[in-house]
Amino acid sequence: MHYKFTLQPLPYAPDALEPFIDTKTVEIHHGKHLQTYVDNLNKALEGHPDYHNWPLEKLLYSLDQLPQELQIPVRNNGGGVYNHNLYFSTMAPGGRPLPNGPLKDAINSTWGSLDNLKAQLKAAGLSVFGSGWAWIVADSLGQLSIFKTANQDTQIPANLTAVLIMDVWEHAYYLKVQNRRADYIDNWFNVVNWEQAAANYDKYGVTDYSKV
Ligand code: MN
Repeated sequence: MHYKFTLQPLPYAPDALEPFIDTKTVEIHHGKHLQTYVDNLNKALEGHPDYHNWPLEKLLYSLDQLPQELQIPVRNNGGGVYNHNLYFSTMAPGGRPLPNGPLKDAINSTWGSLDNLKAQLKAAGLSVFGSGWAWIVADSLGQLSIFKTANQDTQIPANLTAVLIMDVWEHAYYLKVQNRRADYIDNWFNVVNWEQAAANYDKYGVTDYSKV
């Protein structure tokens, strides 16, 4: 996707993640927060036609090479668009179990079990100070690791493949569980789309952001 960026539709109804993620939160998170990132990214790029055919991933990989006045707006709003599209696409009503295949094998060899990975990912999400994200990422050889970013930073400058992403900004949970991030994370695990995560993992070694 590139300029002019549009709101990627939710792949399910706003109430479909109940009772784990509430309707109001999904409506505001997708319809207001993500829409605002889309709008502000477009606004930032409006006067810079040289970048209108750049895919979002290329903009995010090349932040340092952008004109000074674009660097922070693209980092924050472009990252907001990228991260949220990934977040909403890796959830599904009632969740989807982890299929047999390369991701399951890699999880078992890295963490011993899916339950242990979940415990590690939860700890990572709890340890993000302020606003940010906890991720499962893969390097170009398929080696998995847990990754954290602040604000709307992405895994793209590190040239890693995103497998799964957990939003730990307060706007992802405050309406339902207020300050209890741990409760949100426990709820969120019930709607994780591990099938999509497995499909994302299959792209390791194929996606090289330095060549996008
Ligand atoms: Mn968010």
